[in-house]
Amino acid sequence: MGSYRYVIVGAGSAGCALANRLSEDPSNRVLLLEAGGSDRNINIRIPVGFPKQFRTDLDWRYMSEPEPSLIGRSIFLPRGRSLGGSSSMNAMIYMRGHRSVFDAWANKCGAPGWSYADVLPYFKRSEGNERLGAPYHNAAGPLSVVDPAWVSSVAEPFIASAGAMGVPRSDDFNGPEQEGAGIVQVTQKRGRRWSSADAFLHPIRKERENLDVATGTLAHRILFEGDRAVGVDYERRGGRHTARAEAEVLVCAGAYNSPQLLMLSGIGPPDELRSVGIEPRLDAPHVGRHLVDHPMTTLTWETDEVDTLFDATHPRYLAEYVLRRGRGKLTSNVGEVVAHTRVATDGPAPDFQFLSGGAYYFDNGFRTFPGSAFTIAPSFVGPRSEGSVRLRSADPHAPPAIHLNWLSDPAEMEAMIAACRFARELASSGPLGAIAGRNLDPGPGVASDEQLEAWIRAECQHTYHPACTCRMGAEGDGVLDPELRVRGVDGLRVVDASALPSITSGNTNAPVIMVAERAADLILGRPLLPAEDPAAQAAAVPA
Ligand SMILES: Cc1cc2nc3c(=O)[nH]c(=O)nc-3n(C[C@H](O)[C@H](O)[C@H](O)COP(=O)(O)OP(=O)(O)OC[C@H]3O[C@@H](n4cnc5c(N)ncnc54)[C@H](O)[C@@H]3O)c2cc1C
Repeated sequence: MGSYRYVIVGAGSAGCALANRLSEDPSNRVLLLEAGGSDRNINIRIPVGFPKQFRTDLDWRYMSEPEPSLIGRSIFLPRGRSLGGSSSMNAMIYMRGHRSVFDAWANKCGAPGWSYADVLPYFKRSEGNERLGAPYHNAAGPLSVVDPAWVSSVAEPFIASAGAMGVPRSDDFNGPEQEGAGIVQVTQKRGRRWSSADAFLHPIRKERENLDVATGTLAHRILFEGDRAVGVDYERRGGRHTARAEAEVLVCAGAYNSPQLLMLSGIGPPDELRSVGIEPRLDAPHVGRHLVDHPMTTLTWETDEVDTLFDATHPRYLAEYVLRRGRGKLTSNVGEVVAHTRVATDGPAPDFQFLSGGAYYFDNGFRTFPGSAFTIAPSFVGPRSEGSVRLRSADPHAPPAIHLNWLSDPAEMEAMIAACRFARELASSGPLGAIAGRNLDPGPGVASDEQLEAWIRAECQHTYHPACTCRMGAEGDGVLDPELRVRGVDGLRVVDASALPSITSGNTNAPVIMVAERAADLILGRPLLPAEDPAAQAAAVPA
């Protein structure tokens, strides 16, 4: 494939955004390598179809190691494997996270330059919000963010019942305050998914001759000359090739595959590398460490409401979707409505995101219920436990060994139990209580703390937000410096969810795209966008 200025590995949320920004200047030749294939697929395009991608060729289909804290279960870990990566598979919720998370990145996590005021302009640069504007939002960016075209009839009762429990209604979780209950905004356009590929890649791919996109291409390792990354060794159509990077190699392979690729290239904990026959190049003990995700349980109730998703596969809804150009049930993102609140923390950020929708979405959508139901799913967005990603072998085709280690701290289990109780109270009070029927999961037999704990360990899933496995941080603590450069080598950065210094208090797609936006300016040496803090500016205006 020859020589490029930048070689990017992974065309996911981050990789597509980075490829766009780096190739804006025609003199920069950019190669984007993607293991998966095209994203022209009905279950990518039609929002409600995203779980139908699970365990298909659009998915890396990872499983965790047997998890001791989850009664030895191996947890299914879907990850997008096509153009757009996980943004082509996700539930499309647009959520930035609480401002205190970013301030902690800058002030406590060794990533100066990533405070809320620093990152807000980069969230805004990508955002094309159809309803919300300045000072927190932008209408003109490429990533389409809209109010959903359709939500279940359980959404409004959920918001009203949350209000009665002290969680105020919100119509913007990405403005001054993340706490509140309301309908989420989604990354869609005209009723179809709007992935990072839709936002950043497809509109420019044909017209930019300086950008090459190679699908079906598995990166095996990063090539070095001395301490400098100079290219990528990859596999395509059964053959092995190399692409040379004159300036930098940019690893955007996601929170499981980026540490895997670094370790395959000799960058990681030396003893672990030697144990699978890889000669260490750089002693980097934090590579593959600090894996965090948002554990989640799903509590479900029967309901007589018919405006739910139980019959969404009926052909009339497909006909409606096609004839009315992206309208109706099939536009649902399933997790339609959320309440962010603090259940077991005194900190400034919410520790739980209660997701809800008119669906029985227990077990990643693999089990169904023959009737109408709604779910409340407490997602623990303030977890502490850390897991790891390790190599199983030196073979790039072998899935990495992923150990989640969720809920290993007893305080986390107490928080999960409290959150389940909160969800039950929500479903049994006010307008939601009026439409809630029989509790299907966990069922009335699960009542005491001990029973809830056993149920959580047996049924806990997650919100698909792995992060921090090559985190930015201070010298000796982070894999990456605050400019996303791998410490100890030249010409190599990691730009994706693995780079987050700590996990955000919400869904991770928007933060990852923000990281890529800011990375582009750092890589190109452009002046950074000026910091903005609307709350501080408002406070500074004399009354
Ligand atoms: C089912 C699901 C639902 C989710 N729901 C939401 C949501 O509603 N809202 C939200 O904000 N977030 C959600 N997320 C999370 C969010 O989508 C991810 O955090 C985000 O997409 C991660 O971006 P990334 O760039 O780090 O990785 P990815 O987008 O996963 O991109 C990595 C890319 O690298 C490619 N790749 C990996 N290894 C190699 C290799 N060796 N060679 C070449 N290519 C390689 C992969 O195929 C992939 O395309 C969800 C995720 C999933 C899976």
